[in-house]
Formats: sequence, structure tokens, C-alpha cells
Amino acid sequence: MEKSAGCPAPRLRGGEIVHGFKINRVEEIPEIRVTAYEAEHLKTGARVLHLHCDDRENLFSVGFRTPSRDSTGVAHILEHTVLAGSEKYPVKDAFNELSRGSLQTFINAFTYPDKTVYPVASQVRADFFNLARVYTDLVLKPRILKETFFQEGHHLTFEDPGDTQSPLAVSGIVFNEMKGAYSSPDSLMYKALQEGLYPDTAYAFDSGGDPDVIPSLTYEQLREFHRRYYSPTNARFFLYGDIPTEDHLAFLEEMLAGFDRVRVESSIRSQKRWAAPRRSRRFFPIGKEEKPEGKSALNMGWLMMENTDEEEALLLQVVAHALIGTAAGPLRKSLIDSGLGEDLSPVSGLEHDLKQIAFAVGLRGTDPEKVDRFEALVLETLQKLAETGFDRDLIEAALHQVEFHGKEIVRGTLPYSISLMSRVYHTWLYEGEPLSGLRFNRIIEGIRQRWGREHDLFQQFLRRWLLENPHRLLSIMEPSSTFQENQIQAFRERMAAQKAGLSEETLEKIREETHTLHRIQMEPDSPGALATLPRLKMSDIPGDIDRIPIEKAAISGIPVLRHEIFTNGIAYLDLAFDLSGVPADLQPYLPLNGRLTTGMGAAGFTYEEMAKRIALKTGGMGCSLAAGLTADGRETWQKMIFRVRALHRNVREALEILFDLLSQGDLSDASRMRDLLFEMRNRMQAAVIPSGHIFAQRTAAAAQTLPAYLDELWHGRSQLQFIATAADSFADGQGELVGKITTLREFLFQRGKVTVNLTADAEGLQILEENLAGMLQRLRGGSLARASALSTPAPVSSGITVAAQVCYVAKVLRAPAYSDPRAPALYVLSRDLSKGDLYKRIRVQGGAYGGMSQYDPMNGCFSFLSYRDPHLVETLRVYDEAIDSRSRQKIDREDLEMAIIGTIGAMDRPMDPAGKGFVSMIRDFAGITDEDRLKFRKGVFAVTAESLLEAARRCLLPALEAASVAVYASDDRLRKANEVLRPELSIEPLLEPPGQSRA
Ligand SMILES: [Zn+2]
Repeated sequence: MEKSAGCPAPRLRGGEIVHGFKINRVEEIPEIRVTAYEAEHLKTGARVLHLHCDDRENLFSVGFRTPSRDSTGVAHILEHTVLAGSEKYPVKDAFNELSRGSLQTFINAFTYPDKTVYPVASQVRADFFNLARVYTDLVLKPRILKETFFQEGHHLTFEDPGDTQSPLAVSGIVFNEMKGAYSSPDSLMYKALQEGLYPDTAYAFDSGGDPDVIPSLTYEQLREFHRRYYSPTNARFFLYGDIPTEDHLAFLEEMLAGFDRVRVESSIRSQKRWAAPRRSRRFFPIGKEEKPEGKSALNMGWLMMENTDEEEALLLQVVAHALIGTAAGPLRKSLIDSGLGEDLSPVSGLEHDLKQIAFAVGLRGTDPEKVDRFEALVLETLQKLAETGFDRDLIEAALHQVEFHGKEIVRGTLPYSISLMSRVYHTWLYEGEPLSGLRFNRIIEGIRQRWGREHDLFQQFLRRWLLENPHRLLSIMEPSSTFQENQIQAFRERMAAQKAGLSEETLEKIREETHTLHRIQMEPDSPGALATLPRLKMSDIPGDIDRIPIEKAAISGIPVLRHEIFTNGIAYLDLAFDLSGVPADLQPYLPLNGRLTTGMGAAGFTYEEMAKRIALKTGGMGCSLAAGLTADGRETWQKMIFRVRALHRNVREALEILFDLLSQGDLSDASRMRDLLFEMRNRMQAAVIPSGHIFAQRTAAAAQTLPAYLDELWHGRSQLQFIATAADSFADGQGELVGKITTLREFLFQRGKVTVNLTADAEGLQILEENLAGMLQRLRGGSLARASALSTPAPVSSGITVAAQVCYVAKVLRAPAYSDPRAPALYVLSRDLSKGDLYKRIRVQGGAYGGMSQYDPMNGCFSFLSYRDPHLVETLRVYDEAIDSRSRQKIDREDLEMAIIGTIGAMDRPMDPAGKGFVSMIRDFAGITDEDRLKFRKGVFAVTAESLLEAARRCLLPALEAASVAVYASDDRLRKANEVLRPELSIEPLLEPPGQSRA
């Protein structure tokens, strides 16, 4: 994403008619360097917003307003279903075909509580229009076949699909996806708050679908939902990138031909305001062995202003940040310091995606009987603030954060344009001004002026929207170890009752229908059907790699990597400390060391003062741990990396803060240390269910290579156990903890161990370098240590019990490193397996939300994973069969070509400026040069059906012997699997029960 300063010159004028569209207005938005065009299709009323800029990653998206009237998940199931194919593109799974055979840099669909959005992005013009063409046709003219509804939504089957004697069951991809979501305490918490605060609106329903209600959705209702909402009249096209507006309009004119303006009733009702606060009480599942004490959450939410008032919304953002955005936030602090709970609950913050904005704050790690004290404390704290006012620095820090994050170009897994799109939708969907959320500079200026005139602006705001706002919900979330079991039991009983009412004939029919569905699912698309999809030719694929600028230099003998990249006025600094020689017993302390370094006091400042400084002068301070194999696989590198980001004008102070933390960190505040430990443990524990496949992968991979072992130790279940134990035994173990961290710091934070990595434009680089020379002297002298002899454990076959209704199944094999001649073929193979065999058998046929394989040459592992999977034993069998068949059967030409194109697309995924600087540094640690990358790319182009077969036969088959398996699932599922699995899974709880654990 190369960008330069300035907006593109306007090419059209307001009032003009172009390709059947009336241009309503043209406006430059210098903050983000775009020229915006708002247009309306004269014939249908379809709305278009194009943000024209010089980014070559163009985004096309079409969104419909789709308020729900029940919790059947109709909007979500329709989102899945339309992507299956249209009359013009009669393939079974158009989405998968597009995603595997194109250079898409993003392809997805999202169901929100009131809208459904279909975005695709690409950096290649021909590819972009191919994708946009098919996507538009799919949403406007889908086939919506009955079998797709069964597959994506729900259908009746049997626990053993071939046996009518076995219990009646429900299957379906969305059904299992939502079962996974309903196992996550965090999602249940959000849901309780949303449904509770907006009880008389569409938001009272779950647009994703409640697994208990999903089976009541009929095929007719699904079709009716499409008829009602999916028309051009109800559509909003959001476009972004360097393709001129006229070209988009010409394309859309063609796509909308034949459609007329229709009547659509899709308006979103506002929630009527309450006269008095309310309370609600709900449950979430925990494991059988877990104790419920101290695991509840208490959340308080307020319904606030309409989303269309952008200035009021931004004011709220500032107040929310000042209250709870940093460790110095008075509301956050009074809640944490009260000891009523362990840390802020994950719902704390703003809900900006609905028609009326809501704000919430909550405590996690508490008990229901503390609810009155919690409520009183929140109100007292707000009352006090309304009287005395905010610390001026907190407001300044919040305004700075809005400015910084508005400016920063961020492209993580989502394109930058997606975040612009969400900002536009905040107002656009509700008939507000679509551009107001993008012009943050002007709004901040407005707020500053108001603040100058009305000194109690923020106090008035607190009174109006929080203290004197009776539309307030107190939501109590209690853990229950029987909740899930009861739910499963109730569902089984319902199914049993339903089965009892069915005749032998009907049961036989259900068995046959499942059988037919499976048969249809396994039939490949006809060549004729596949040929309808526009395809790129190999010659359309860029042959060269994207190069990231890198220059090697030194400051006072310390190695420096410089990346001169346009960053929109932001400078990035990484300090990477070498971890060679860190002894095994100190390794688990590394993540904690990172968190304590950035989260505690330093250089005479308390943690609160440091938090304020960080928010006032930086865009964030972070620490990460990374390890990998060198390109040739012979050695391992491991680093602890601190990163700070700042506007040019703040670079000096930002560096001072970072070096204060590194050279004068203060570990004396025991209660702050305990709070950070609790927070780490709670966040990590909450991440297990939503990322169950990653945890399973880490557990399995740890036995394969040293980098994978370290990754597990720092980020996997071992780390969770370590942190949980450290948190539980903090009172006794604090002294030892401080001792270990101090030893670690003395060993690590030395000049001789650091590599400096700079990412900015020329001006930013200069400012960074001017300030760095003196700062680096603040680190102790010292030199690189020899690598310590760490060893990986033996391969495992692990079953980890978690309170989930679905399984996460991982199998990991040792695989070659980056410069191995077979690496490109393995990369293509993993891609093809993910989009081919595994997708078909685990997702389409098995009903899991995801099934995939991953080859990571950086840690030398080849993984098979499933996500929110109703199966376990079958999934492991699918993995083995996939390896077996790939070692025997050659892939056909068409599939090979698509796998290669898709692989290149994945390798070319654009990065944001900060990401480029970071990745370039990591490549340097691994010793991967641009020549190596070019060689790898050529290797991918050169993959043949033979070399793919050879790679499977030579790399995967022999590695099977020492492969590891890890499954995260409920205790019952694991035990049942052990009746047939050989070797058996060794079953252990996620966390060792208290008393048996060790530090
Ligand atoms: Zn979904």
C-alpha cells in the first residue's frame, strides 16, 4: 500500500449524470488523502460511495440493511447461502472457487445485527472486476438451492448418519459456528448486554442465530428474506482505491441493468428510552472441574445518542477513553483498586456499530453478591468526576489517541479500507452523513473550540449521558458448570421426543436425504459450470516480489535496520533483544516481563503517570516474542521485541518513555503487578474457546521444533497454566517472581543484545536517529550470549478438556525450512488441501466452521486444523486420508493452476507501513534475502503435479510417524473418542486443578 500525501484531483462534479448515476457530491478529505464521490443510481436508487485515492488495493463491497425479526440466524444463513452460486455462475461454492483461484487480497462476508456486507479486494485491476462481477451477481441473483440451505443452515440427520437407530441430530455449518460462539463467555456477555439494552428493536435478536432457534428456520423464510432485502434499492456500494469513479459507475450500470426501484421496508427502529434502570441475570459455561467462585462478571451499560451525530459520538469516544482507556482512567482505576473484581470485563468500551451508541463498563473475576457495591462504586466515581472534572491530561491524551489512530494506516488481516468502511456505515446506514466519521480533524477542532468556551463540557456530558440517563442496564453473568450439560441434555431430549413422533418411513427418509446431501456435496462441479467463472491467466500474475526498502546502518556500534516508507507522519521504532542464553526456567517469565515492562511504573513515575505519558505521546507501546528457524533450518533465532509508535512531533518524548521503561523499570508496586497478572490470565483464558484451533495447534507443534516449542511456552496452554499459577499464588510467590524478572532484565536489556529497527519516511527516520544515539547509552553494556540448550518434548497425543460444544482438532508434522527445494511445493500443497479436500470433507460435509492445513517454513511445521468441529475421530481420519491420497494421486491441471494462483495471492497480501518494517526485520533475523524470496516465488510457479506428489511422499508421509495430535473438546467427547482412537489421547483439564499445580 504505497501512499503519498494529498487527495487525487476531482474528476467529476456534483450534479453531473454519469453512466446512469447522479453524482450527489464530491469532497476532498485531506486527513486520509481521499477524494470522496457520493452517487445514486437513477433507476434503482442504489447508493454508491467511492473513496478515490492512490492505494492500488481496491475494495468493492455491497451492503444491505437487514434487520432481524427473530433469532433463527436467517441473515447469517443467507449470507452463507448466496455465496454458493447464481444462475449465471452455477457452481456449488462460488465463494471457495473465487477465494482459491484469484489474487484476492481479501474476500469475505459479514452479518451484523442490522446489515450484511460483502467485501472483496485485489491489487490487480482485471482480478478486481472479476471478483466484483461475480460477487454482485451472487448477491442479487443467487440460486439459494435447498441443499445449500441444508448444508449451510441446518438439516436433520443422525449421530451416526447411516444409522436410523442412533439419536436424531441437527447439523449445518452456521449451526456449528454459532454453537462455538455460544460456548464463549465473552460472546455471551456481549449478547446479554446488546439484547438487554435494546429489547424493543432488531438488536434484541441474534442475527447470527441462536443454536436453539436455528432449526426452526424454513427454506421459504430464507428465500423471503432475500426477496425483502436484497435489492439494488436497499443496497449501498462502498468502493475504495485507485480505480477512477467513472469506471466503477460504468461497471455498476451494467450490473444493475434490468432492476427497478422497489419498495423496501428496512428502516431500523430506535430503542425507546427507559424511565428507570434495569437488571438482568444470565449464565455462561465453565468446565466441570472449575469452581464458580470469583468467576462472574458484572457489567453496566448505557444507551446513548443516535449514531448519526458524529460530534456527539466523538465526544463520547473521548470521554470513554478518559474514563477507562488507560490504566490512569479514573473509572477503570477505582474499579480495579476496589478489589471487587480482577480486571475490566471485555465488553468495557463503546458499541459504535448500532443505530444508537452504547457505552459499557464491567468487572470480571467477581461474584454476583457484589453487584450493589459495584453499581454504587461506578455511580459514585462518575458523580465525583462530574463535580471535580477530569484531569486535563486525560482529555488531551484521549484527543491525541483519536488523532493518532485516525491518521495511522493500519492493515492487519483486514484491508485498511474495511476500517474506513465501518466508519462510514456508522452514519450512512441510518441515513446520516456518510463522510462525517472520516473528517476527524475537523471534529476534533470543533470539540477543542467548544471545550475552550465551555470548561465543564465533559462534566456536562457525564451528567447528561451517564448519571442522569435512566436507560441503564446492570447485567450479571454467572458461571455454571451444569449450564452447558443441561443445554445439551435438553436438546437431546427434544430431539428424542421429536424422533419418537416420527414414523420408520420418515426416519428412513431423513437417512436418505443426508446420504443424498453427502453425495451432492462430494460431486465435483461440471467443467461447464466452472468455466462460467472468470479466471486469471498465469500471465496475469505478477512474476516479481514486492520489495521492502531496507538499509543496514549502525548507531554507536549497535546494528540498525532502516525502512524508508510513507507512514502518514508516524514513526515506528522496534528494539529487538536477543534471547539466546535465556535459561529454560526463565523462559515462561518472558511474556510477563514484557507486560510488566510496559505496564508498570519507571524512572520515578507511578504506573498511572506512565500510562498517561504513553497515551499523551505515543500511539501505543507493545512487546512481542518471536522465534523461528533460519532459512536453511540449521539454527534458531529468538527475540523479545518492544515497539513504540509516535507522531513526528512526539518522537523525542516517546523514546524517553520507552527507555525509562527499559532502563529504570520499577517492580515495587505489588498490587499493580497482581492486577496485571490477573488481567493476563483472564484475557488468555477467554481466548481459548474463540481460538481453540490455535491452542490445539500449539499444543501439538511444541513437540516438533524448538521455535514451535517456544511459541507454545510463551503463547499456548503452558503459558496459561504458568500465568494462572503465578496469579493464584501471588501472595506467597511475589518475592520469587520479582527476583526472576529482575534477573531476566539484567540479562536481557543490554546494548550488545539489541537490534534497532526504524520505519518512517525520510523526515521521520531523521528524527528517530537524532534522538536515538543518546538514548541507547541508557542501556547497560554487554554482549550476545551463546544459545542455551533447550530441548523439545516428545510427540504427544493430547486431549485437553474445555467447556465447548464443538471440537478443535490439530495434527502437526515436522516439515522442512524455507530454503529447502520442496518448500514451495509444500506451500502450494497446504493451500490446495485447505481449499480442496479439507474444506470439502471437514466443512462442507462435516459441518465444521473450518478445516484447513498450514505450512509454516519459519517454524518447520505442517499442520492440519479444524475449527468449531462437530467431529473428532472422523476429522483425524480425514487428515490421514488426505496425506495418503496426496502421496498417491496426482492433482489435475485446473486445480494445480488455481492452487498456484491462490498461493501467489496469499504471498502478495499487502501490508501496512508498520507491518512492512516489522516483517523485513523478521526476514533479516531468519536470513531470508530478496533473492531467496524471488527463488521461492519462482519455485511456486514451477510446481508441477509431480513435484506436489513428491513433496507429499517425501516430506509428509515419513513425518507421520512422529506427528503430534492435540484436541480441545469437552471431557465426554474426548472419552468417547478414546474408545476407538489408537494411541489414546491423554486427557487433561485445560488448567490443572488448584493444589496440584506448580510454578
Ligand atoms: Zn458464518
